[in-house]
Amino acid sequence: MAFKDRTESDELKNFRSLDNRMILPSKEKQIYSNLEKGYEGEVKFDQFTERLNPNKFLILNDLLLETNSTSFQIDSFIISQGTHFPCEVKNFEGDYYYKSDQFFAMNDTEIQNPLDQIKRSGTLMRQVLQKIKYSTSLKSNVFFVNPTFTLYQAPLEQPIIYPTQLTKFFEELNARTSTLSDDHYKLAEFLVKEHKTGSPYTRLPAYTYENLKKGLTCRSCCSFFVKAGETKIVCSVCGCIDNIADGILRSVRELKLLFPNIKITTNLVFEWCKVIESKKQIRRILKIHFNAYRRGKYTYYE
Ligand SMILES: [Zn+2]
Repeated sequence: MAFKDRTESDELKNFRSLDNRMILPSKEKQIYSNLEKGYEGEVKFDQFTERLNPNKFLILNDLLLETNSTSFQIDSFIISQGTHFPCEVKNFEGDYYYKSDQFFAMNDTEIQNPLDQIKRSGTLMRQVLQKIKYSTSLKSNVFFVNPTFTLYQAPLEQPIIYPTQLTKFFEELNARTSTLSDDHYKLAEFLVKEHKTGSPYTRLPAYTYENLKKGLTCRSCCSFFVKAGETKIVCSVCGCIDNIADGILRSVRELKLLFPNIKITTNLVFEWCKVIESKKQIRRILKIHFNAYRRGKYTYYE
């Protein structure tokens, strides 16, 4: 059990929803695909940290911190006696090569050097710790988790853990002696408190309510081919059955995520879900789960 869990970012959830409801421009499609791939890699990485002895290690996933107005992100931060480990996780697929301190894809496009990234986040993390007079040694590593990843002309003596080394790395880490103290827990709590929610910038494409495809989607396969009955929603593609209240609430959450300032009304949810036959049903569910406010002849829910 991690001290701080990893959850899908709002940006990723937004992209997922937009990808389903509009045609993403190719640049955004690429960003979205990288986000999905990155998250998938982190989840894979978590399978290794989850096996670490909880009496010896505190795991903080997905930290977004700031020092002197500079933000930085750490995929996982492992606290243990003596040394703490900032981890950068990469889910690169296929072949890459390394040349004069730079990373290249085989088609010669240069990609951001993950070694520079961890150097930067390590330095900034040190600043954060110095400010609270917390002294420890930090050991940063880049973890490549995709089994298809190959790096030609790989540099020796660099803090890189390859897919074939993951199991051994974590076995050795787990075998270290480490006793967690109050200071370790205090640091973990401090970092969780300092964690910034929400990305400082967004890379989403422009979109409006009008240009998005409407419709309640299947909770499992995201298809629009769902049929709503009295109490259940059934997906015609994957057969998944969902409770109607859950389906409506999921749609409202999606709507709020895409349009944080939108006023939730029965008519709006009716139009957004499309497949719910009675407005009465929607009103009943909104009333149970939200507070109703009146403005003129409209009732909206928060
Ligand atoms: Zn489905």
